[in-house]
Amino acid sequence: MPGAGLIGRSAVVIGAGMAGLTAARALADSFERVTVLERDTLPEAPAFRAGTPQARHVHVMLGGGVRALGELVPGWEPAMGAAGAARLLTARVRRELPGYDPFPPRDFGGRGFSASRTLIEHILRGEILRHPSIRMFGDCRVLRLLADDGRSSVAGVSYERAGGAVETQRTDLVVDASGRGTPTLAFLQASSGEVPAETVIGIDMGYATTTFDIPSDAGEDWDGVLHLPDAPRRARRALLMPIEGHRWLVGLAGHRDEKPPGDWDGYLEFARSLRTPTIYRAIRTARRAGPIVRFRFPASVRRHFDRLTRFPRGLLPVGDAICRFNPVMGQGMSVAAKQACVLRDLLTARSSAPDPLGGLAEAFFRDAEPIIDAPWEIAAIPDLVYPETEGERPPGFERSVAYATALRRLAAVDADVHRLTWEVQQLLRPASALRDPGLVERVTQLV
Ligand SMILES: Cc1cc2nc3c(=O)[nH]c(=O)nc-3n(C[C@H](O)[C@H](O)[C@H](O)COP(=O)(O)OP(=O)(O)OC[C@H]3O[C@@H](n4cnc5c(N)ncnc54)[C@H](O)[C@@H]3O)c2cc1C
Repeated sequence: MPGAGLIGRSAVVIGAGMAGLTAARALADSFERVTVLERDTLPEAPAFRAGTPQARHVHVMLGGGVRALGELVPGWEPAMGAAGAARLLTARVRRELPGYDPFPPRDFGGRGFSASRTLIEHILRGEILRHPSIRMFGDCRVLRLLADDGRSSVAGVSYERAGGAVETQRTDLVVDASGRGTPTLAFLQASSGEVPAETVIGIDMGYATTTFDIPSDAGEDWDGVLHLPDAPRRARRALLMPIEGHRWLVGLAGHRDEKPPGDWDGYLEFARSLRTPTIYRAIRTARRAGPIVRFRFPASVRRHFDRLTRFPRGLLPVGDAICRFNPVMGQGMSVAAKQACVLRDLLTARSSAPDPLGGLAEAFFRDAEPIIDAPWEIAAIPDLVYPETEGERPPGFERSVAYATALRRLAAVDADVHRLTWEVQQLLRPASALRDPGLVERVTQLV
């Protein structure tokens, strides 16, 4: 029997990315021991590791993510400040949207940190490890999930250590935060044969990112720049954000045959071809402080685990293993942190139930869906505006696009509407806030 208030003796988390770390913290008050197994060597200092290749690219933490992390890991934000993360006022991010270069800057009180993904994760890992129930092991690659009860439930994991030794660990719950979700899919395939349906939006994005020392004569009216394209005419976009060490991290992106190149001349030329000269002017004479790194993002993928007729007991996928968003709106880490809050609340609510782990995954999928809906609409659906994007257009798609354009027009002139759209975009409020009848009527008149 686990101790008082606990629902299990042990939980294992696969992967020490953002979803794994936040899930570990969510589990730690409900299990005697939480073990995180990560295939990479875990660096002592903020450093790149191969298991998260996206970490070299701009990683924005949205307001909803900051709030969720504040609940789960209150020490994270102060520790970020102490580690030198750049302080950022969201009103000081110049937003260049089609028809608005820039969109009217308004201060809605959004304040936070801007930092490299390696620093964000490093600080979070250190804070998570303060919890006495959590242990974390690098160089442990999970090979497969162990089955119990005629394959209807998961009983543990087998994993390989650096030298090749294979070990097993039996556990009450396995959380799959491996990003790709391969352990979960392989288990489902081998047990019931039923894998989740997927919604796939094939965008074929390419990113090219590099760092610069912030020049002493940097722009006076902004600290960061978000540049969005005039879709579907153009696909080139860019994001410039300050990070620790008084540097800018600048990511250029485009899709299909408009991907940014990896050489400096091509990179600069791509920046010059954007609709406005803001980013080009900022970087053309700035001192480059790192190589140009590229990343290809073929498709946004949403797995509908909630639609499966049954799901194994003792298993829970989280984060990118459920839904991988087009990164352009910077949502994945925030959604992972919000999912961890859902998990923590579910575990607390079930602590006195006769079988707290029975049906846990089904309840989690149900509660996590609304958290995924809004960012999915914000990031993935606009990709469908491009005729060449692969994926089924939802019913009434063209009308939704016209509505979104009209909503943006209204937000430009009405500060209250702007605040509302900003809060939804920052994942601070649900998308349903935009369906208020009074607002819908006003927007519809502009369509
Ligand atoms: C180019 C790019 C830019 C992005 N920008 C942003 C942004 O601005 N803001 C934002 O919020 N999000 C952004 N994201 C998304 C974000 O990186 C992820 O959504 C978020 O980190 C959650 O990922 P995860 O933890 O589920 O998976 P991952 O980050 O993929 O982590 C999975 C972890 O599991 C480990 N692992 C995998 N398999 C095994 C195994 N078998 N055994 C043990 N360990 C294993 C991996 O090594 C890794 O550490 C971006 C993504 C990309 C691709």
